[in-house]
Amino acid sequence: MAKLNYSRQREAILDFLCHTTSHPTAEEVYRHIQDIYPNISLGTVYRNLSLLVEHGQALKIQGEDCDHFDGNTEPHYHFVCDACHHVYDVDMEPSDQLIQSAGHNVPGKIRTHSVIFYGTCDTCLSDKN
Ligand SMILES: [Zn+2]
Ligand SMILES: [Zn+2]
Repeated sequence: MAKLNYSRQREAILDFLCHTTSHPTAEEVYRHIQDIYPNISLGTVYRNLSLLVEHGQALKIQGEDCDHFDGNTEPHYHFVCDACHHVYDVDMEPSDQLIQSAGHNVPGKIRTHSVIFYGTCDTCLSDKN
């Protein structure tokens, strides 16, 4: 894996991701980073987010609206609300059993896995009542 050249802007992006559990979208990261680097472009933010994901320093969660980013790279599951598109961490141990059973059925060796549950969050459920 090629080493990433140091970039102050990318460090700021990573720092933001590591201090939030809100799983921000690229646009949300952009709006935050603009406070520190007013001249940064959305393209630069996208490129740096992709680099961080490529180098295992951040996770990308594919939402139905757009991608969300997570500074927590420990394997963990997510729950995405269909209504507000909020991404929640799921407080449960990733299942080794799932990897084992899938391991027999994939044409290769599994490196990692991710699980996304979809549904409606409590906030949106109570909105409807
Ligand atoms: Zn919701
Ligand atoms: Zn997460």
